[in-house]
Amino acid sequence: MVDADQTFVIVGGGLAGAKAAEALRSEGFTGRVILICDERDHPYERPPLSKGYLQGKDARDKAFVHDAAWYAQNDIELHLGQTAVAIDRAGKAVRLGDGTLVHYDKLLLATGAEPRRLDIPGTGLAGVHHLRRLAHAERLRGVLASLGRDNGHIVIAGGGWIGLEVAAAAREYGAEVTIVEPQASPLYGVLGPEVGQIFTDLHAEHGVRFHFGARLTEIVGQDGMVLAARTDDGDEHPAHDVLAAIGAAPRTALAESAGLDLVDRAHGGGIAVDSSLRTSDPDIYAAGDVAAAQHPLFGTLRVEHWANALNGGPAAARAMLGQDVTYERVPYFFSDQYDVGLEYSGWAPPGSYDQVVLRGDAPKREFIAFWLKEGRVLAGMNVNVWDVTDPIQQLIRSGTEVDTTALADPTVPLDSLVP
Ligand SMILES: Cc1cc2nc3c(=O)[nH]c(=O)nc-3n(C[C@H](O)[C@H](O)[C@H](O)COP(=O)(O)OP(=O)(O)OC[C@H]3O[C@@H](n4cnc5c(N)ncnc54)[C@H](O)[C@@H]3O)c2cc1C
Repeated sequence: MVDADQTFVIVGGGLAGAKAAEALRSEGFTGRVILICDERDHPYERPPLSKGYLQGKDARDKAFVHDAAWYAQNDIELHLGQTAVAIDRAGKAVRLGDGTLVHYDKLLLATGAEPRRLDIPGTGLAGVHHLRRLAHAERLRGVLASLGRDNGHIVIAGGGWIGLEVAAAAREYGAEVTIVEPQASPLYGVLGPEVGQIFTDLHAEHGVRFHFGARLTEIVGQDGMVLAARTDDGDEHPAHDVLAAIGAAPRTALAESAGLDLVDRAHGGGIAVDSSLRTSDPDIYAAGDVAAAQHPLFGTLRVEHWANALNGGPAAARAMLGQDVTYERVPYFFSDQYDVGLEYSGWAPPGSYDQVVLRGDAPKREFIAFWLKEGRVLAGMNVNVWDVTDPIQQLIRSGTEVDTTALADPTVPLDSLVP
């Protein structure tokens, strides 16, 4: 089936890389497809790592994008446990850690992101964790189960999505949980203060303690074990384990050393790509968490979410095949915490909106929140309300002013507000 005329190389075996490989074959590409990944597991999805798998409800196998046999069946050459360390753009080759040179005609960088590290004393202690890989989740799930059995305590640095999801899992195991968050509410950078309070209440009702307006300054240990976590306002929280959930940084080192254009950190960082996901080198593309694309609605945008890897990988694959691609999906993500499920579409960090409209029953946690600027919907989040993503995204795309009274009224069908 494979002819060796053309070789497309993908660096990064996460969801974006695996879906790009799948799309190359489904679009009829008959050349070689080489997928290089520094992890030893074949590509898997990360959302279960803080949800079903972490909670012990879902099997490990459920996380994999394809089963192991799929790659050989589709002539995808998998190089697992191999790090791409350099790109020779003139010679069109990727150098692996063991010195092997892999030639490419087109190259996709789908190197994802890595957890930001706490830069404080005590992070080398055995009970300090991060959560990005299956191995991290495997370890953390054992930790949470044993904390639950022994009334143990975990301190979570960061009240973002991963911090909150792990808090929910930890409470389900019966562990004591304190979240230390520099802002005055969780998820501040995504939702702002208005809707963040709803998540404070949700977690507080389930027994999570919050320490807002503070940062960890030290993890105190003895004999290599965590004893407590100190904050910059002089508090000390007892802890047996600490999770650093303070965000992720795009893995741009390879692109940077190859001289590709990057976006600066103040604008979200990442490898700069155009709306067809092409980098500043016409033979190199980037997709998923690492790519900062030109979005027609939101400008330069790097999206660290599952749907962006799911759709961005295939879009880059089509562009590599010479198809006319404009990647303009409205950013979308989902989260599950306790009995709350939600979906968020759009992009409306604090400072970008001037009004929040709630539709439905927020105290009961069955509602849609809309973030607007000058009457136009920038983002919408449905919480325990389903099948509304299409009209929410249509409202965002339309860019037209909406009647906010009607928007807040659940008896007015959302579709009827879409121009
Ligand atoms: C715990 C957790 C829970 C999440 N939950 C949700 C959720 O509920 N909803 C949602 O929308 N999103 C969620 N996300 C985000 C989502 O998982 C990411 O957006 C998605 O994984 C991005 O996929 P990717 O393929 O771009 O990158 P990644 O999944 O990071 O994959 C990149 C791969 O490339 C490898 N790599 C990097 N550099 C090299 C190199 N030089 N050589 C070889 N290999 C390399 C990496 O090790 C990694 O295996 C979650 C993320 C985490 C960590």
